[in-house]
This record gives sequence, C-alpha cells and structure tokens, in this order.
Amino acid sequence: MSLDVSLLQQADLAPPPPLLLNLLETSHHILCISHVSPDGDAVGSLLGLAWILRAMGKRPVLALQDDLIQEFQFLPGVEEIIGPAAVAHNYDLIVCLDTSSVDRMGTVYCSEIHSQIPLIVIDHHITNTFFGTENWVDVGSVATCQMLVRLADALDVPLTEQMAVSLLTGLVTDTLCFRTANTDANVLQATLRLLVAGADLSHIVRNTLDSRSFSLLKLWGAGLASVQMEDGIIWTTLSAESRQQSGVELHQSDGLANFLVTVREADISATFSQRFAQSGQELIECSFRAKPGFNVSQVAFTFGGGGHPPAAGCTVAGRLQDVSSRVVAALQEMRRQSLAGR
Ligand code: 5GP
Ligand code: MN
Repeated sequence: MSLDVSLLQQADLAPPPPLLLNLLETSHHILCISHVSPDGDAVGSLLGLAWILRAMGKRPVLALQDDLIQEFQFLPGVEEIIGPAAVAHNYDLIVCLDTSSVDRMGTVYCSEIHSQIPLIVIDHHITNTFFGTENWVDVGSVATCQMLVRLADALDVPLTEQMAVSLLTGLVTDTLCFRTANTDANVLQATLRLLVAGADLSHIVRNTLDSRSFSLLKLWGAGLASVQMEDGIIWTTLSAESRQQSGVELHQSDGLANFLVTVREADISATFSQRFAQSGQELIECSFRAKPGFNVSQVAFTFGGGGHPPAAGCTVAGRLQDVSSRVVAALQEMRRQSLAGR
C-alpha cells in the first residue's frame, strides 16, 4: 500500500498572506536579503526564494552583509550574492528572510535609502519585531525554508532541484538534521517533497553539519579547556586571541553551544565569544541552547538579541568576564523560574 503524502494536513501552518503573493507577482526589480553571519536557513531561504522568483520570470538581486563560509559554497547560485557596497537604491520590492529585526540585515538595508520601498518579512523567529510593511511570521515553522515550500505552492511554482537543494539545507541546519523537538510530520512531509524534487540529503548533511575545519576543532579545544557548569547551566568563554590563534573564519559560528547542551547534567548552554569592533569597542557574541522546557529566546531578547525557545543569541557590549557573568545569572534566574512553574 502506498501513502499519498500530499494528503497529509498542513492546516495548522500559516499560509502566505494574499497581499504578499500579490506584491511578489507584480514586482520585477526585487532585492532579497537575509541576516548577518548567515547560517544554513539564511542562505538556503535566500537562494530558494531567488530560484522561485526566477521560475516566475523575475531577476532577483541577492545581498548579504557577510561572506559565506566554506560550508555553504556548494549551494546553487551562491556566486550571484552581492555585498552591501553593490546594493542599489531603485528596487520596487525588498524581501527580508529569516531575520528577526531590522538591524540583523546589517548595512545591506539602509533605511534612509530603502524605507520608501515595500518591505516583505518572511521569518519564523518568536522574537520577530514585525519591521516590514508586510510580515509573514510563522513560529510554527522550524525554518524559513519550510515556509518557502508553502510559498512556492501558493505561487503555483513547481519545485525544481535548485529550489529543493537550497530549501532542504535550511531545514537540515535549523533542525540539526531532524533532531530538534519541533521536527514533526509537516517537516518530514516538506522534506519528502524536496527529496522527490531532487535534493540529496546526505550531500547536504556532509557539507553542513558534518563538516568543520581543523581550526574550528582547535577553537573548541580552547573553549572546552575552560568550560564551567553551575545549577544546570554549562558555559565557556572564547577570547578574540584564541579565535585568532585558531585561524577560524570570521563569520564561522563556532557551534560549540550545540555540543555543550548535550551534557546530561545541563539544561542550558552558553558560549561567549569576544570580538572587537572597528572602533575598538569590545563586543561579546552570546549563543544559547536549551533543552525542551526552557526558553532562551526571552533572555536573548532582554539583552537586545533574539532567536527561538531552544536556540537564541545576542551581542552585548562590555568586558568578556562582566558580560558572561551577567548573562549566566540571567540564564540561572530563567531556569529557576521555569523549574518553579512546573
Ligand atoms: P546561533 O547561536 O546559532 O548564532 O544563533 C541561534 C539563534 O539565535 C538564531 O536563530 C539566530 O538568528 C539568533 N541570534 C543569534 N545571535 C543573535 C543576535 O545577535 N541578535 C538576534 N536578534 N538574534 C540572534
Ligand atoms: Mn531560521
């Protein structure tokens, strides 16, 4: 007996608003943007949307603040992505993907120049600030790429191999290869359709989650050497010096928080990575992960960042030791309240 996967219900997932579909159908000169330090869902949704728009006969312009790391260079169409300096003024539509607030686009989006242009936001972060003129924010989707499968359907665009490879990359990276608690039948149904359209799951996993440089391993070594754990919170700090010594690429997320949260005695993990802005200001990039039942997005939001209940982050100005102790205290307080509320 065969199962017709198209019969599975997607009724609980928010469909794209009609106005958004209309804007995409009637615009021609479209700028697509995703967030700084792009991850798999950022670049996958950017390229996926570009292939959908091309199938509609449009020629989208794709822009990112930061260079793509090695892991995403295999994706179809990456050579088309431009940096902030090449972004023009005269688009008739801007689409922002997988980005929870306007600042996360970096200088690719310049409000003095672009604020007159309609801005569509397509995102799945619970901390989204609804900064677009048209916002499609679905926190029930595990990845922005999952929303774009529904967008292609709503636009009557058949899935191609290029779309499928791009979109499956975001699904794989945001779910850590279908291991997060939000991975459900809808996610697997979307995945099945992308596989049928020609995406190679094992190739994507090998290039993304199962690929890291020797430099990154050395950085992990430095982080693991000074790891601490107290009251169910496990954390470590990474100095700018240790990052420089390891030779890790500038926009490479270290991924160490994902590893730390697997420690049985811990409910929440955090990494604090020091960097210096061009002005010399000390900035601490904080990355959080939580086991089910704890919500790190709220703590990240309090410190000016954002994310999802199990994975979030923020960038805080200050000294490495000061910031890490303040943030760990906030995480401990959140954990206490969560346990008390059970
Ligand atoms: P990661 O720890 O992998 O860098 O990020 C985990 C999640 O937190 C992602 O959804 C990412 O978009 C969000 N995130 C990380 N850093 C920041 C930040 O500085 N600001 C905001 N708004 N979100 C962040
Ligand atoms: Mn995402």
